[in-house]
Amino acid sequence: MPELRRPRVLIADDREENRYVLSRVLEGAGFDCTQAGTGIGALEAAQTLPDVIILDVRLPDISGYEVCRRIKSDHRTASIPVLQISASFVSSDDRVRALEAGADGYLTHPIDRMVLVATVKALLRLRTAEAAARQSAEQWQSTFDALSEGLALIDRNGALVRWNKAFAQICGPKVEIRAGDEASSFLKGLLGTDDPVKQPGKRYSAEFNIGKRTVQVSANPIKGENDDQGKILILNDITDRRLAEYALLTAEKLAATGKLANAIAHEINNPLEALTNLIYLASSSPTLSDVQGFLTRANEELARIARVTKQSLSFHRDSQRPILIEMGALIADVISLFERSAAQRRVHLALSRQQEVSICGFPGQLTQVFGNLIRNATEAAPPGSEVDIRVRSIHRGGNGGARITIHDRGAGIPEDIREKLFDPFFTTKDLKGSGLGLWVSKTLVVKHQGTIRFRSCKAPRKSGTTFEVYLPMVEHSAALD
Ligand code: ADP
Ligand code: MG
Repeated sequence: MPELRRPRVLIADDREENRYVLSRVLEGAGFDCTQAGTGIGALEAAQTLPDVIILDVRLPDISGYEVCRRIKSDHRTASIPVLQISASFVSSDDRVRALEAGADGYLTHPIDRMVLVATVKALLRLRTAEAAARQSAEQWQSTFDALSEGLALIDRNGALVRWNKAFAQICGPKVEIRAGDEASSFLKGLLGTDDPVKQPGKRYSAEFNIGKRTVQVSANPIKGENDDQGKILILNDITDRRLAEYALLTAEKLAATGKLANAIAHEINNPLEALTNLIYLASSSPTLSDVQGFLTRANEELARIARVTKQSLSFHRDSQRPILIEMGALIADVISLFERSAAQRRVHLALSRQQEVSICGFPGQLTQVFGNLIRNATEAAPPGSEVDIRVRSIHRGGNGGARITIHDRGAGIPEDIREKLFDPFFTTKDLKGSGLGLWVSKTLVVKHQGTIRFRSCKAPRKSGTTFEVYLPMVEHSAALD
């Protein structure tokens, strides 16, 4: 909406007839007029912020020049255009005096009414244009200052023109920035080099330390139509980002160490359990040959503990060569370790296997995998039920391999947690679970280029879970490293 308010003119003149004539002329041209007969009166009326002030030079109390000077030095009224009027035939000295006091225009009596109206209108246009320019400059400066990056404008001669608040802040309180200073010597003082602005027309970016902060310094040329118009210098304080990155890295290292420690404890628990069982059996055996048999197996379990620790410590740097493993025999061994603890829960582990399904791999790692899966199945199975473990040889896409399934008749896995099952530390067993069994198992199966997946059903009477592991017959041992 265009502004409908009539522009307001303050007329300050000691002679009533002058005020009367000027008012008539201006009101006729669409202005509203207020009047003052003294300098003090004019200063008071100026506080109501008229759009233009017409000021007679000769006022009874304070001179017109002085009134004009005071209007222009008061920040509230400084932007109001002042038209100074004086008696006819004044000297050019008077004109100069008026203009030096800050007047925006000067007319002498007798005043031509058309010239008066045109002059007032011209001053109004000037004021509107000035206000618009000031507003846009203010908007630009506040936007400029609101940026968190420090920005400075360098002209084509290499001098600093302007900068925002962030620029001064990043430079620090001890650094003095003056408009017109040479950017290259300023930068030498700040960074110890003027590299950012050395090459005209070239982009530049590097990291520097300013005090205790790490700052990314970039310079970008401002392209004119034919040549470069100067440069924008950008200072970006990246100290917090660098600190956060460092903290994240340290946290990740710690977490990885924690995971490893947890995995070792978890994996050692299985053979320890078997060891306890075997020692119990040995101590209650009637014959020496039975005792020797149990002790031999106890020795194997101890060797497994040693292997687990060694493997865990060099988890991803396993350089042992893989060997040919008959999967049926390996699974039977694993079952024998868990049979007793399963029996305590009245769960029977039933194995059905084909003759000779061999794959190439690391027996210690695969023992870990199936130990975890059988343990989970035993924990899920209801008392009096059976866990079915099958070992089959299959062919997938021309490649032979072994498929091992472990099926329990437990309550099944709720839909909403299925996605998280293989995540490290995911457990529904509170303090009794480490949540690492499936994560470790998956990692090891993937290392053997195999797959691990599960099906689960929660329907009453048909509920249960089947984990399926597929291990391909990999010919070349190098592929397993
Ligand atoms: P943990 O056994 O220490 O909890 P796992 O990684 O071995 O850790 O298993 C993660 C979670 O997966 C278990 O807490 C359990 O909720 C679920 N889960 C694994 N196997 C079965 C299964 N056979 N039946 C039901 N839930 C299972
Ligand atoms: Mg488990």
